[in-house]
Amino acid sequence: MEFIDKKFVSINNLMVKLRKKKCSSKNLLILFPHCIQHSACKQNVKNDLNECKRCGKCKIKDLIEFSEEYGVHISLATGGRIALQKVKSAEIHGVVAIACEKELRTGLMAAAPKTIFAVPNLRPHGYCKDTDVYMDEVKEAIEKFLK
Ligand code: SF4
Repeated sequence: MEFIDKKFVSINNLMVKLRKKKCSSKNLLILFPHCIQHSACKQNVKNDLNECKRCGKCKIKDLIEFSEEYGVHISLATGGRIALQKVKSAEIHGVVAIACEKELRTGLMAAAPKTIFAVPNLRPHGYCKDTDVYMDEVKEAIEKFLK
């Protein structure tokens, strides 16, 4: 199944690239999962991203700084239904979604036809704990929508 998830994500991204969909920063959303937060961090970022102290122990700091730099929306996906509501909202025209390939595939299917560039996360400690992401890939995905 993992192979199918990876294929689904790469075909989706190829189609997004070919479609060359553009949107303004106010209509673009960065969506990322809670498992990216450092497991020892006590900040309640699930409730409010402003709780992040930007210590740099996880990529939440970098993601927030990207959202500020580019002026795009940012949201921590706390659950499938809430994340889907945000993605499907009329003000959002494009999404840069970070997650494991399985979550990305199910999210892409549920949110279709919304244009979503999927960035698979890194899992040096396995699934759902202290996950990571290449920020260069996030930056590239944001710029594909904005340029
Ligand atoms: S950057 Fe630091 S304060 Fe912010 S969520 Fe990560 S570990 Fe917590």
